[in-house]
Amino acid sequence: MPLASASVSVEDRGFQFGDGVYELIRTYHGAVFHLDEHIKRLYESLKQVEIALHKTPAELKQVVVSGVKRSGYAETKIYIQVTRGKAPRLHSFPKGVRPTLVMTFRKFDSLPKTLFEKGVSVISTNDIRWGLCNVKSLNLLPNILAREHAVRAGAYEAIFVRNDLVWEGAGSNLFAVFGKKIVTPPIGHYMLSGITREIVLALGRTSGLKVSEEKMTIASLYQADEIFLTGTTIEILPVIRLDKRKIGTGKPGTITSILHKDFQNTIVGQCRLG
Ligand code: PMP
Repeated sequence: MPLASASVSVEDRGFQFGDGVYELIRTYHGAVFHLDEHIKRLYESLKQVEIALHKTPAELKQVVVSGVKRSGYAETKIYIQVTRGKAPRLHSFPKGVRPTLVMTFRKFDSLPKTLFEKGVSVISTNDIRWGLCNVKSLNLLPNILAREHAVRAGAYEAIFVRNDLVWEGAGSNLFAVFGKKIVTPPIGHYMLSGITREIVLALGRTSGLKVSEEKMTIASLYQADEIFLTGTTIEILPVIRLDKRKIGTGKPGTITSILHKDFQNTIVGQCRLG
């Protein structure tokens, strides 16, 4: 149905508690990018928060693919949200309630080219999130506050720092380049295992770079030759400043640009273009 006609109850636990999880997927030229991985991650999030969805992954994939077709956009941004359902407000799980499943299909506008050409600034911020950042939970208040503070500081993204260690951005994964080595923090409870992050790690390995998943301090990040962010909507985005300090030459790095080109070639292959 048209987005404007869709509605959810005020008693939905997503609205009342943020009791749910989500995924964000995109298409390239009509083909859904890494659908299997996104659906797998959604079911992992659901499992972590103990929500039993009344659809199988295969059924959900079908809804996504048919939704993309029906929406008719050349490029689509697909948002999937699952909450524990509608029930009078009580913290403990309601009995016999079906989860609420919402999917929206919107026209996707790529980021302005200048962001990739010029790079972006980021700030570091204290990570005040909970201990299950690997779950794509609806509870995004710390991410929202961090991003807002970044925007107010004239930056694009905020990087979460926990006990001196950097983990990820408010809505992106983080990579640093030291010489010919690319480094990203290891997966675990302190960050989301990004789909784009995995693609970039694989690209790095095949292009002869040294690839390492290791913890990084904020102090070491200031010394990086290059920094970039990854995510479904931003792909690979160069960072040129961290907390107002210049990173490397202060321009988007060579390895970052090569990886972004490789990434775009991957898309061409996977979405059967060219
Ligand atoms: N970390 C966080 C906190 C995010 O919100 C996102 C965006 N989904 C990412 C990392 C990047 O993940 P992906 O590459 O799967 O979009």
